[in-house]
Amino acid sequence: MDSKKDVHPKEPGMKNTSSYNPKRSGMISRRQAIGTGTMGLASFAISDPVKTFMNWLASFAAPDTGVFKKDAPVGELWELWKKRGWVKEAYHYLKLGRNVQCKVCPNECLLEPDDRSHCRNKVNKDGALYTMAYGDPCTFHVDPVEKKPLLHFYPGMQTFSIATSGCGFRCLNCQNWEISQKKPEETKDPRGTSIRCTPQQLPFLRQEDIARMSMFPEDVVSMAQYTNCPAIAYTYSEPTCYFEYMYDTAKLARSRRLKNIWVSCGYIQQETLLDLCQYIDAAHIDLKSFSEDIYAKLNTGKLQPILDTIRTLRQKGIWFEVINLVIPTYTDNMSMIRQMCDWLVKYTGPDQPLHFSRFQPLHKLTQLPPTPTETLLRARETARNAGLQFVYIGNAPEIADGETTFCPGCKKAIIERDIFAIRSMNVSSGKCKFCGTKIAGVWQA
Ligand code: SF4
Ligand code: SF4
Repeated sequence: MDSKKDVHPKEPGMKNTSSYNPKRSGMISRRQAIGTGTMGLASFAISDPVKTFMNWLASFAAPDTGVFKKDAPVGELWELWKKRGWVKEAYHYLKLGRNVQCKVCPNECLLEPDDRSHCRNKVNKDGALYTMAYGDPCTFHVDPVEKKPLLHFYPGMQTFSIATSGCGFRCLNCQNWEISQKKPEETKDPRGTSIRCTPQQLPFLRQEDIARMSMFPEDVVSMAQYTNCPAIAYTYSEPTCYFEYMYDTAKLARSRRLKNIWVSCGYIQQETLLDLCQYIDAAHIDLKSFSEDIYAKLNTGKLQPILDTIRTLRQKGIWFEVINLVIPTYTDNMSMIRQMCDWLVKYTGPDQPLHFSRFQPLHKLTQLPPTPTETLLRARETARNAGLQFVYIGNAPEIADGETTFCPGCKKAIIERDIFAIRSMNVSSGKCKFCGTKIAGVWQA
């Protein structure tokens, strides 16, 4: 997701309020983890150069949408993947004779035997659908909840954040493409000694172990508790595409009184979403534009399913915040932004937080400039004019009040932030301390 996700407008390296120090604890950072995962791929190439070369060629031949024909792992690699416990039969799919159809997201991948899904994580083996993204995260990190970003959900809370490879979109601007546009085998290596990431094992974990490491749902929950994180965030790539892993982890986390945060592009089937809604406490949804045409060109997706997701989350009473990345020439049209804001006011209400985020040139859009400050300010003004009460601007530290929460009653600044740090907090029991107006969100008592 990047943001989610993705939806990850604030990269590591920016100021972080986290008291948790990965170096001190021996934990490996997200960047290091991604790098190590890629090293795992390189070592595969040495052991089986012909197959790796064929897969590499196939990945270029594959269209930007659709499945990867006959690309499922076979032989030793598939057996090792199963032996690690990194394979699980999918939870939402149809059997159509020897073919299968995934029902997790609107891509509805239809796979013949040994095909691989569009998100790269699922394969048809002997007429059954399996995920290869189970218990094998390629990255994990402790992040403040503000980094998701969620600004009205337990401010200052730390989250244990995980991701596997894979995504059902192909966003030209993806800032996490090193993991979202990779197959599980390109980020993990099942050979060698089995290693489980648990609080007991953490002090002995080396950077090069990440690619071989397992972290099953019970391990994720233990790690969250060990790192004093009251919440687990499913984030960075697209968690919908590691649905089974997220679902099992979230279910267990709920039973241990941890919260679950889904950072997503929101591209999910309604039935699957309702299943997930049982266990998530908050979501961050990336509304990438308000145009089917732009969704098709920029993201290889569709707008309507995301709008359906937003309405369902609202109906289910799950707290969520929306982000919109303002990309020059793609999503910076103010009349489209106004339409999006009008829709949000109508279907989610004026108290729906909306985050505008600055685009940075990367992945396949390096020819574009970063979003000008002026454009971001105009977007905020447009949203406020539409009636939205909580409008934020991320990735733009020069806008001093970009992430300040203002009371819709007395208009005073009630939460001031310095990137992820909270500088002042004047919300108490969910109300403005100055005038008593109720502030939408989920707050500490
Ligand atoms: S490709 Fe996937 S992970 Fe990347 S920005 Fe798009 S939805 Fe997010
Ligand atoms: S989750 Fe993956 S396999 Fe399932 S429909 Fe979406 S892209 Fe296809």
